[in-house]
Parts: sequence; structure tokens; C-alpha cells
Amino acid sequence: MALTQQQTQKLHTEIEQRREALLSELRDDVERVRRDRHEDLAGVAPDPADESVATLIADLDHADVGRDLNELRDLEAARTRLTDGSYGICADCGSEIGFERLKANPAAARCIECQTRHEKTYGGASGSSL
Ligand SMILES: [Zn+2]
Repeated sequence: MALTQQQTQKLHTEIEQRREALLSELRDDVERVRRDRHEDLAGVAPDPADESVATLIADLDHADVGRDLNELRDLEAARTRLTDGSYGICADCGSEIGFERLKANPAAARCIECQTRHEKTYGGASGSSL
């Protein structure tokens, strides 16, 4: 049972909204990190005001924002899948993920079964609830 256009649209909107909220949180974190770094390394020019997500992610790799950053990456990946048409398809087994699961977690890349297996295989100790 593939997602209807309406369902996809709704999930797309949720992804965009969540991403915007997360980005604004993370930008605050980056500003803090850049300030701290600037204080630590007096004389080093601050980064240019480049607001690209790639730059943001690179900076955040140095910050203590692992969980938010993982969520942002998941959301970015979900946006890519929406663009290339693979959204809602399990990345592991290729079956439909299902609207109910995507409603609870719009960035989900796997069906429940594969996600459970994935977390077992990779330990699942990172606190991921995807
Ligand atoms: Zn699967």
C-alpha cells in the first residue's frame, strides 16, 4: 500500500517544519561553539557567514550536539528520498514503510522489522529510536 500523494505531502511538510526548528536550534549551538573557539584561538578569523547545511554539519561535528545532528542528517536524507522518489521505501528490504510509522517518525528510512534488526546488529546503544 503505497503512500498517497496527500500523505506524502503531509509528511513532507512535517519534515520541513522539523528541519527548520532543528536548524535554528543547531545554528544557536554553532554560534556558541564558534564564539568559544574564537576565544580559545585568539587571532583566528571567524568562519564566514556561510549558512549552508553542509558547513553547519561540519561545525557541529565538533560540538556536543550529537543527537540533534543525527536527527538533522536523517531529515536531510528523508528530503533526498522525497526528491528521488524512494521515500517511504525501506532502505534494507525495499518494502513499504507504512504511513503510520512515517507519521510517528517522518525521517524513518527502514521498516520496523529492518530497523529492529539494524539496531541489534549495530548495538543500538546510541539511543536511536528510529
Ligand atoms: Zn525493511
